[in-house]
Amino acid sequence: MKHILVRYGELTLKGSNRNFFINKLLQNIKFKLKPFREEVVFIKSHNSLKIDVLSDNLLDEVLANLQDTFGIYSLSVVDEVENDIDKISQVALNIAKESPRGSFKLEVERKDKTFMLTSQEIKQVVAKNILFNTDNLTVDVHNPNTKIEIIVKREKTYIFTSRITALKGLPVGVSGKGLCLLSGGIDSPVASFLAMKRGMQVDFLHFMTPPHTTPEALEKVFSLTKKIARFNQNSFSLYICDFGLLLQELMHIKDESYRITLMRRMFIRIANQLSKTINAKALITGEALGQVASQTIESIGVIDSVSDLPIIRPVVTYDKEEIIKISKAIDTYETSILPFDDVCSMYVPKNPVTKPRKYRAEQQEEQILWEEILDHTIKNSIKHYIVKEGNIIEGTGEKNQKGTEVNSKG
Ligand code: ATP
Ligand code: MG
Repeated sequence: MKHILVRYGELTLKGSNRNFFINKLLQNIKFKLKPFREEVVFIKSHNSLKIDVLSDNLLDEVLANLQDTFGIYSLSVVDEVENDIDKISQVALNIAKESPRGSFKLEVERKDKTFMLTSQEIKQVVAKNILFNTDNLTVDVHNPNTKIEIIVKREKTYIFTSRITALKGLPVGVSGKGLCLLSGGIDSPVASFLAMKRGMQVDFLHFMTPPHTTPEALEKVFSLTKKIARFNQNSFSLYICDFGLLLQELMHIKDESYRITLMRRMFIRIANQLSKTINAKALITGEALGQVASQTIESIGVIDSVSDLPIIRPVVTYDKEEIIKISKAIDTYETSILPFDDVCSMYVPKNPVTKPRKYRAEQQEEQILWEEILDHTIKNSIKHYIVKEGNIIEGTGEKNQKGTEVNSKG
C-alpha cells in the first residue's frame, strides 16, 4: 500500500468558507479517481488529505490525476508510521539507505504537541541513527542530496523526501460557472484553463457556419474540449451554435470594416442569453490586448457594452508566446494549430476597424434586421453536447444528462 499526502492550496486562507472549499476539492478528487474507487481510501484532515492507494502499481496513475486537479498545492508520497521514536528512526534510516550517496538533511515538524520529544530531539535521535548505521552519508543542512522530512501528526507520523508541485489555484466549482466562447484557436482554450484555475466550472460555446465551416472544424472543437476536460468539472456542456443566418445578415451592413465588431457583439448577445438558461455568471474569452485589430481596448469596450454579464479575459495581458507556452503545457496547442477555419477567419474584412465607436456600431446594426434572426438562432440553432469521462454525447437539454454518443475519437 502507498500513501499520498495532498496539501490544500490557497483555500487555507478562506476562513469560514474553508469547509466548502475542502469539500469541493474532495468531491472533485473523488470524481477524478472514480476509476480506481475500489483501490483508494480518503482520510481528510484540517490541512491536508491522505489518500491510501491499496495497490502499488496504481500509484503513478493516481498521482497523474491529482496533478491535473486545481486546488492542490503539492503532493508527497509518504511512509506512514506510528508515533514511536524507534519506528520513526528505523523508517528514516531505510529511506536514507535508499538515497544516493552523499549528504542528507532532516526537517521535522511536530504537529502533535503531546509527542514526548521536541522537534530538535527527534532530529538528533534520527540523524544519529542514520550516521551510525550508514558508511557514506553526511549531514549537510545547506545543500543536501536528500532532504528527509518528518511530520508528526496526532494520528500518525509521515516521512518523505519530495514534494511534487501541483496546479495550485482553487477547486473547480467554488467560483461558480462561466461560459467560454471557444474558437478553434490557441487562446480561448488557455483562457478557459485559467478561469478553471480560479475555481470556475466552465461550459463552452462555439459558433460555426456550415457548410462554410467543415466537419473537421467541429471535430477540432470536440477534440479541444476533450483535452481541457481533465481540468474541468467532471461533466460539462458544449454548445454549438449555427451562426449562418446571422452572418448572412451581417454581410449587408454598409461599413464592411465593422463586420468583425458586429459579429462579436452578436456572439456576446447570444452568450448572454444562453448563460441565463444555464446559470453561468460570466463569459470567458481568449482576447489579448492589441493582439489583432479586433482586440484593441476600443474594440473591447464596444463589445462589452452589449453584455450584462462580466466578460473575463484571462489572457488579456499575455504575450502570444506566454499563451502558447501554456497551451503546450495543457496539450491543446497541436490541436489548436490545425488549419480548419472557424467562422471568423472566413469573413474577415480587408481593413477591420481598429478603433470602433459604439454609436457607429449601433448605427450599422440599425441597418439590418438582426433581432428576429438572433431570437431564431437562440431557439433553433444551438446544439447541446455533454462532455463526460472522455466522451461527447448529444444532450437533449440542460437537465437531461442522457444522450446518444456522437463522438468517441481521440
Ligand atoms: P483564439 O486563439 O481563441 O481563436 P484569436 O486570437 O484567434 O483567439 P479572435 O479570433 O479575435 O482571437 O477571437 C477572440 C475571442 O473571441 C476568442 O478567443 C474566443 O473567445 C472568441 N471567438 C472567436 N471566434 C469564435 C467562435 N467561432 N466561436 C466562439 N468563440 C469565438
Ligand atoms: Mg481565433
